[in-house]
Amino acid sequence: MKALFSTWKDKLVDNRGKPPEAWADVPAKLPQAFDSKRKITAFMGWGGIVILDEPYDVVEMAYKYAGALQKSSCAKCFPCRVGTKVGEDVFAKILGGRGGADDLKQLESLYDSISKNSKCGIGQLGPEPLVQSLQYFRGDYEDYISGKRKPSGFYYPYKMTAPCTSACPTGMDIPLYIEKVKEGDFAGSLKTIRNASPMASTLGRACFHPCENNCRRDNVDKSISICKIKRFAWDYEDQHEVEKPSNPNKHSRPEKVAVIGAGPSGLSCAYYLALQGFRPTVFEKLPTVGGAAWTGIPQYRIPKEVMLREVEFIRDMGVEIKFNVEFGKAETFGSLRQKGYKAFFLATGGDISKDMGVEGEKDNIPGVYGGIQILKDITYNVTKDFIQNPDVRPHPVPVPKKVLVVGAGNTAMDCVRSYIRLGCDDVNIVYRRTKKEMPADPHEVRESEDEGVKYNFLLAPTKLVRENGKLAGLECQKMELGPPDESGRRKPVAVKGSEHVMTADMVISAIGQDCDINYLKEEAAIQTTKWRTIVADEETFQTAVPDVFAGGDVVSGPLNLVTAVGHARRAAQGMGQFLRGERVAPADAQIMEKMIAGIGAYDRDEVVPQAKGWPRKEMPICDRKDKIGSFKEVELGYSLEEVVEESSRCMRCYIVGMACVPADGGGA
Ligand SMILES: Cc1cc2nc3c(=O)[nH]c(=O)nc-3n(C[C@H](O)[C@H](O)[C@H](O)COP(=O)(O)OP(=O)(O)OC[C@H]3O[C@@H](n4cnc5c(N)ncnc54)[C@H](O)[C@@H]3O)c2cc1C
Repeated sequence: MKALFSTWKDKLVDNRGKPPEAWADVPAKLPQAFDSKRKITAFMGWGGIVILDEPYDVVEMAYKYAGALQKSSCAKCFPCRVGTKVGEDVFAKILGGRGGADDLKQLESLYDSISKNSKCGIGQLGPEPLVQSLQYFRGDYEDYISGKRKPSGFYYPYKMTAPCTSACPTGMDIPLYIEKVKEGDFAGSLKTIRNASPMASTLGRACFHPCENNCRRDNVDKSISICKIKRFAWDYEDQHEVEKPSNPNKHSRPEKVAVIGAGPSGLSCAYYLALQGFRPTVFEKLPTVGGAAWTGIPQYRIPKEVMLREVEFIRDMGVEIKFNVEFGKAETFGSLRQKGYKAFFLATGGDISKDMGVEGEKDNIPGVYGGIQILKDITYNVTKDFIQNPDVRPHPVPVPKKVLVVGAGNTAMDCVRSYIRLGCDDVNIVYRRTKKEMPADPHEVRESEDEGVKYNFLLAPTKLVRENGKLAGLECQKMELGPPDESGRRKPVAVKGSEHVMTADMVISAIGQDCDINYLKEEAAIQTTKWRTIVADEETFQTAVPDVFAGGDVVSGPLNLVTAVGHARRAAQGMGQFLRGERVAPADAQIMEKMIAGIGAYDRDEVVPQAKGWPRKEMPICDRKDKIGSFKEVELGYSLEEVVEESSRCMRCYIVGMACVPADGGGA
């Protein structure tokens, strides 16, 4: 990217005085526009300063940035609390035309001292661009001191975040909830979590935790166990007689809102709508709540009795759930609008198993299943007491002698690990690539290997084989890995003449899911993609029909819990604006959050000067005999001592990023 000036990632690029065609590249990825109306001319943050072009005012920006550091300081350590306040005051003096050369020296030594002596990211990483501004823009400071220059009055939106927070689709303040656990303030921790997600238990048990892949502690020894600390905060509330939060705005507004689908996305959106005072009703076609987190993720990973208590909390906030109502059939856009619903959130997920595309698949051979269907049947059998409709009888689940599960994602993992628990002796994965390319969570793969699952790599299915009308096996072809495909993984190429039959009395297809969006026929203006997902605005989740919003898997395609919840929270914000008659648009902080994520808040190559401490505390798990013989929860949760020890490893890597938006005359 070309820019006028940059110190980003310690690389000085100074193109001042050169024509734009002679500008050297800078190692930063910044958007040129803040939104459709306003442009960005500069950015200041933990990684340095980037000036895209005129107009800019480094001294004014430094003053605003110093103020942002002050506001972001948690005030727990003296150098950061007092130092950032003094620094802001000195900047104010310079901006007010009352500064002198001594003030510049004072700022240099002050910010040097703050970064050396502070205990967390704001103080340690924050001052760097201020020191750089004093070094490379001395003339601009001197112009202020001599009275030649006056403040420009530009707008400087900023955002405090952290590498882990920035990687979390919900934007959760992770260092804060960890800090609160460390201090024993579990209610405060849960409150922080619930600001971003009402599903602390579900996420704390099954989130794929992108935060942990962006944890700076990993540059020192091993990432913090962020996900499981979240679970502790929820479990503590669940297991103790503590007062749960209430919703002071419950049903304070008249507007009814229809949320379609009671999965993580629908439930989360309904929760945030209820907190704004609206009256959300969730319409769910199944007799169970939780979407794929109920029907797909097995009982040994998320116990349903635990999930029911989590959902109870969401209901208490003012959310109504209606079961066994299929949208598009029992209710439609038209019928619900007639009943007074003022907006819709479509969160119907993707629950149709994709076909393997092999010969015989359309013949309804007994013993051939879609992964989604069989997991639902298994869950319904294992947890039948929790089904919300007593008339629903689960299908019996057959237990074969040998099962082949085609696929290597998380659905495949859940299928094989469930069949181990159901007592099947010969449980196999068939995958066309190698272990290295498997999309499943590596932890799940390790667990499945420990439980006895066999892996058959570089094999692709070609035909279902029958004998006397019954399933006898799966014909497969050997594969070799060719050059990478569009997914970046090496493409499997068939080895001619390598077909052979693997015997089996059950074959499960677990190679992905599709969305059923037939209910959209009624609203032709809503756009869809060729993958049969719904097109919605990336920030507000509004569709082309103003009162209809959509989020979760039905927008992203089958993905993960935390993205579904992240969509929901933002959609609820957009829906709130729509229902209050405001302009539907993301808040400036949200735009900054996205900008920082685009720049990349985490640097895997950064050398982090932090002494090693306790090693990461892994979550204790149940005995092997319990894993294989039952659907008992595998992960047991941290003890108080363990969670405090693990939380103490967090380095609170908070950072601040600020943009210069000259067109708006306001201040940050
Ligand atoms: C087997 C499996 C394992 C997984 N494991 C993990 C994991 O470990 N970690 C992780 O992060 N993610 C995991 N995922 C993905 C995760 O569960 C999903 O990304 C997430 O549940 C998506 O949430 P959602 O609310 O968008 O959709 P869903 O959870 O699919 O919920 C959609 C809901 O809408 C309902 N619905 C659909 N159509 C209609 C209609 N017409 N009318 C009324 N209701 C309707 C459905 O019945 C469902 O309850 C897994 C998924 C599967 C299938």
